[in-house]
Amino acid sequence: MKENTSIGDIIRVLEQYAPIPYQESYDNSGLQTGHASDEVKGVLLTLDCTEAVVEEAIAIGCNLIVAHHPVIFKGLKSLTGRSYVERTIIKAIQNNIAIYACHTNLDSVHNGVNAKIAEKLKLQHTRILTSKPHTLMQLAFFVPVAQTDQVLAAIHKAGAGQIGEYSDCSFQVQGTGRFKPSDNADPAIGEKGKPEQVQENRVEVLFPAFKQQRIMTALLEAHPYEEVAHYLTLLENGNQEVGIGMIGELETPLTEQEFLAYLKRHMQLPGVRYTAVGEKQIKRVAVCGGSGSFLIKDALRQGADAYVTADVKYHEFFDAEGCLLIADIGHYESEVFTKEIFYDTISKNFTNFAVYLSEVNTNPIRYTY
Ligand SMILES: [Zn+2]
Repeated sequence: MKENTSIGDIIRVLEQYAPIPYQESYDNSGLQTGHASDEVKGVLLTLDCTEAVVEEAIAIGCNLIVAHHPVIFKGLKSLTGRSYVERTIIKAIQNNIAIYACHTNLDSVHNGVNAKIAEKLKLQHTRILTSKPHTLMQLAFFVPVAQTDQVLAAIHKAGAGQIGEYSDCSFQVQGTGRFKPSDNADPAIGEKGKPEQVQENRVEVLFPAFKQQRIMTALLEAHPYEEVAHYLTLLENGNQEVGIGMIGELETPLTEQEFLAYLKRHMQLPGVRYTAVGEKQIKRVAVCGGSGSFLIKDALRQGADAYVTADVKYHEFFDAEGCLLIADIGHYESEVFTKEIFYDTISKNFTNFAVYLSEVNTNPIRYTY
């Protein structure tokens, strides 16, 4: 590993984990202040970036704050210090502190925010609750048999053919390719104006749609032909690696009261707002960190006994229909462990600077009972 790490090096690792194209259209993940080329002195991890967190970064010598929630979310029209957002940004810039946000893209990856909640609740056989549509593409192309391996190697390197825990996946069948080069052609095989037949493979691979450009570049560079015959198709397939919410099972079924106590213990909650389900046992549990009311129907459809989320409104609790235990555990409480994902991802890849979990409780909500 090279001696110095830049902020850009860390961003690359985080975006490999949670690619920016997976963020929602309304979101604003990415670098919010600072320069990617600056050398990293220390990293502070937080759910929210507030003035207190910037002060903490200054006190412990960190020049990069990685937050789940983007502090700049809506457009800023002035920087005069009138709001906490403006003051946070001003303080960060005055102290050369970069702020990077990794938000709904981290909600959408299979090992992101919701996997962390599932891990805390020790859920088994977990899968994405609602997969994000149109994130997968198929490429089919034709290549001379002798050059098939070199082309496959190039597109695999660019990210094609990774399915779950399997890499270098492809399918091929052999046949005869026929063509006649024009007088202006520069054919790799055959002669101008003469019909040609070549033993070719038809090769098919799948890949995440956002990698289309780099995979096509790799295909065209590695392929021997001047004109590469190919088909690109956007798939309707669900993608088990990208989507929102998670669902899984508890090892042993719990009663309503046992489950609520379990939830409070494992998520460190001061309290839970919930809908009662009476005698029903809780076994299958759906989760979605942050504001997850929009998935109540998905949780019901997939047979969840409980749905753990936050920011549920009064009327939305009625959607439980008496058969789903909706547990509103609080937005902060549902996502505060997200910084552990940042910690693991960064410290697994870098060892030459300190990484801290913020000790500031940024939750703007307090409870009294
Ligand atoms: Zn959130």
